Parts: sequence; C-alpha cells; structure tokens
Amino acid sequence: MKGHTSVFRWIWVGACIVSQENKIVGIGYNGMPNGCDDNLLPWSRSADDRLNTKYPYVCHAELNAIMNKNSADVKGCTMYVALFPCNECAKLIIQAGEC
Ligand SMILES: [Zn+2]
Repeated sequence: MKGHTSVFRWIWVGACIVSQENKIVGIGYNGMPNGCDDNLLPWSRSADDRLNTKYPYVCHAELNAIMNKNSADVKGCTMYVALFPCNECAKLIIQAGEC
C-alpha cells in the first residue's frame, strides 16, 4: 500500500520540455533523489522539525525534467509544468536556456 501512495505523490507535479517542433525532449516528476527510498524519507508537508518534512529532500519536477532531457541544447524549448515553478526551479529553467 505504501508503494501505491508514493506513485500518486509522483503524479501530483510533472514537467515536460517540448522543442520548437513540439517534440518531447524531457519529462520529470516530483520525487526523492535517485537511489533514495521513497518509503524511508518523509513526505509530510509540516512537522516540528523541518528535516521531518519532504521539502529538504524532494527534487522538483522541473529539476528532473532538465536533468533527464535527451538534448544538450534546449534553447527555445518550452517547459510545461503542473504548478507555477518555485524560485529555485525558475533559476534552473533560465540557466538551462528555456524561456
Ligand atoms: Zn521547484
């Protein structure tokens, strides 16, 4: 059952990078860093100690889409995201060349 809930967490937020020819060049979902067990790290939104929330650990969909892209150059590409990007992802998107 725990595995099922972690899958649903990933579906919450997704990002997709699309080329000027409307071809998908990268996708990403919110998730824990590669190699980290989703069932061992916290997914809480609030806790007395911030280290017991998901925020210090989770990799945002935008970050994962950029890291997973299959094209070295994404200049002129468009990123579609489920939610408005946070300030850290906005910087990543700009630095990756998507605007
Ligand atoms: Zn973000």
